[in-house]
Amino acid sequence: MNLLFLGPSGSGKDTQAEFLVDEFGFARVSTGDLMRDISDGEKEMQVIIRDAMNEGFLADNFVFGLMQMYLSHLKADKIILSGCVRKASQIELLDFTLFKVGKKLDKAVYFELSDEEAIKRMTGRLYCPNCHSNYHKIFNSPKRVDICDSCGTRLEQRADDNTDAIKNRLADFHKDNDEIVSEYEKRGILIRIDAAGSIEKVHSELLEQLK
Ligand SMILES: [Zn+2]
Repeated sequence: MNLLFLGPSGSGKDTQAEFLVDEFGFARVSTGDLMRDISDGEKEMQVIIRDAMNEGFLADNFVFGLMQMYLSHLKADKIILSGCVRKASQIELLDFTLFKVGKKLDKAVYFELSDEEAIKRMTGRLYCPNCHSNYHKIFNSPKRVDICDSCGTRLEQRADDNTDAIKNRLADFHKDNDEIVSEYEKRGILIRIDAAGSIEKVHSELLEQLK
């Protein structure tokens, strides 16, 4: 089963993806993590790729080409693609990428959240720079303050998680999201999840709808 997760930052889609990874052995593939992983080894490359990502210099064809290469080596038969389709033009690129590795998309899961709630959530987000686990100061706090439960690394807040940057990101998100959602709706593979509930409630709704 191959899933695409859609939704604004703060909708909790990465946390929900992690549950499916732990419980059912899904592999989670995110374009951002993929680029960070690739650049992890080489300090110089890391800086170049990070800057290119921040400036939006990386062409989609390049990113999806790398994703294709990555997917072709991936052994998992259950995949969650997260943060991979942000623009309507990337729908076809993803179709093509999956086709090239002999896979197809089974469901697109849209985690719906109001802007107000998204802003409230994003200002409290924490992530682990080592194993990429995600936490939240209020909704999903680590057992020890600011320390990753999985690997013990000190958690960090992303530099772009301040209110102005978040409002800009949400505006960007809405520009393309309607078109993306309606395309997958047309294909009959869209699942809508009310992401405003608790993590547990969203999780059980997701499992129910994926049955
Ligand atoms: Zn960690």
